[in-house]
Amino acid sequence: MNKVKGGYFHKLLKVDLSSNTWEVEPLSDDFISKYIGGRGFGAKLVWDNLKAHNFKIDPLGKENLLVVAPGPFTGLYLPSSGKTSFISISPATGIYGDSSMGGVFGVEFRQTGFDALSLKGKAPELSFLFIDDRDVSLVPAPELAGKGSLEAEGLIKQRLGDFTIHVAVIGPAGENRVAFASVNTDFGRNAGRTGVGAILGSKNLKAIVVRGSKDLPVYDLKKLNLETNKAITYLRNHKFFKFWQEQGLMCVIDYANNMGILPTHNFRDGSFARVNSINGFTMESKYKIGDAACFACPMACSNICLVKEGKYAGTVVEGPEYESCAMLGSNLGIDNFAAVLRANHLCDELGMDTITVGNLIGVLIEGYETGLLSLKDIEGEPLTWGDDEKVMRVIEKIARREGVGDILAGGSRKVIETWPQLSPIISQIKGLEQSAYDCRAAISMALGYATSDIGAHHTRAWTIAKELEDGRDWSLEEKAKLVIFHQTIRPLFDMFGVCRLPWIELGLNENHYAAFFSAVTGLDYSLDELMARSRDIYDLTRLINVKLGISRKDDQPPLRWFKDPVQTGPLAGKVLKREEFNTILDIYYQLRNWDAEGKPNPEVEKIFN
Ligand code: SF4
Repeated sequence: MNKVKGGYFHKLLKVDLSSNTWEVEPLSDDFISKYIGGRGFGAKLVWDNLKAHNFKIDPLGKENLLVVAPGPFTGLYLPSSGKTSFISISPATGIYGDSSMGGVFGVEFRQTGFDALSLKGKAPELSFLFIDDRDVSLVPAPELAGKGSLEAEGLIKQRLGDFTIHVAVIGPAGENRVAFASVNTDFGRNAGRTGVGAILGSKNLKAIVVRGSKDLPVYDLKKLNLETNKAITYLRNHKFFKFWQEQGLMCVIDYANNMGILPTHNFRDGSFARVNSINGFTMESKYKIGDAACFACPMACSNICLVKEGKYAGTVVEGPEYESCAMLGSNLGIDNFAAVLRANHLCDELGMDTITVGNLIGVLIEGYETGLLSLKDIEGEPLTWGDDEKVMRVIEKIARREGVGDILAGGSRKVIETWPQLSPIISQIKGLEQSAYDCRAAISMALGYATSDIGAHHTRAWTIAKELEDGRDWSLEEKAKLVIFHQTIRPLFDMFGVCRLPWIELGLNENHYAAFFSAVTGLDYSLDELMARSRDIYDLTRLINVKLGISRKDDQPPLRWFKDPVQTGPLAGKVLKREEFNTILDIYYQLRNWDAEGKPNPEVEKIFN
């Protein structure tokens, strides 16, 4: 038995919103050392709940469990420790879903003395859940109905007379159960993907509010401080540290454009002729007014931008980062950075995932342009590339489920059900719309998207740079191994409750994280042992998905990647080859010890029962 000596309170807070009751369940050392925290805790709790319901769960039903889980590192003195995960069965995909959020919410939650929160049931009226050191209460808040997430955060702080509390909140999209509604915090940080905001909405919960003052337990503070100082010194001395602070993820716009992987015109093109109007340098010179950071993050990647003039004057937004700018900019043919900021702000205020919004509006524009949709389908108002004013109107309609917005609000699955003819031009996998990297020329990235446990999201495996930049001829087996390595190490950050960007962008050595872990918990795990825990969780989320009907037929890149060559940029003419993809998928399953249909070995299930 592994003795856990720090890092946890050993307490899960379980709230039943229907009965307005709560209880504290002790978390054993065995549970902790197996599941670590964050998405590990969440996956296990969601699995147990699914089993209790014979694997039949309506994602928007009272029975669906939403787990909010930071990790053992969240809130500690180590780089970028402000992350917390939201884990559930997704209304966007109907399978396992999670999304992580930065800021300070998870830190404050841990300070209330809990390691995780599970929510089930449904409040009788729109309410917020208030958690502090001593009590948990459900507070009716009908006055917040329809309020934007940024406005509601301010109103809740005002009502409680405390501007130091932290709030995770939904906008009208969450209340209206938009399949890709987000949860927001700190006026601009989001858990954007898989529709976790719609789950809060389905539970009549406008917000979770936390105020904590407890010290976080650490086994060996001296060792942690030493290791952290080494890591921070490394980051501060990195040659790109300053540039990173200046642009954050916006620096990826030029990179993606130069590589030919920037989504443009609904992923038809791989580069954007007017990219200079929406890149990091334009942001810096004309719009940026400040930096922002999640808790304990020296990298401070977030940009605060203000539109000073023109029709969007007065718009302030924390962002955009790369994904939002690409999907709401080049993907929609928009070359007006002020309009990108406005669209980003609207998505934040209304509470929606910018990646999905940019995808679906791109599909609408291409559908109309190519005659797959009629003018009547889009309510008599022509929609063309770069028409930012109409894009703003569609964004509003989605959140409020008005007209065509009501169809888009159901996500890709609803769009395909309504207009099957659009299926070949939608870039989605398992119902989750693809992130902002074209992968027609990078089969490892296509495999990463296709086998991601939440659908087509890049955070599970971002292998595209390595594959495209390396220059040598990799075997398919090497590429499949690279995907599995990413799908193992990247989710580990979500289990720890830290941001992965110091590792990805500035190359912070992963062994630091094993050293942090033993200093915080007293558990002497090597990096390999921690990776093994993460790999187990990937098997667990696969098992969840298999029980919910997922198999090889679903592990497929979008049709567009096979039949529509990239039209512009250095990769013009590239498509994925079906036979080659089938081969790499076989190799991937073998390496994972899954069968030819992608089902884990039956022995695996015993680990989690
Ligand atoms: Fe937050 Fe950016 Fe720092 Fe990551 S790198 S913790 S997203 S500020």
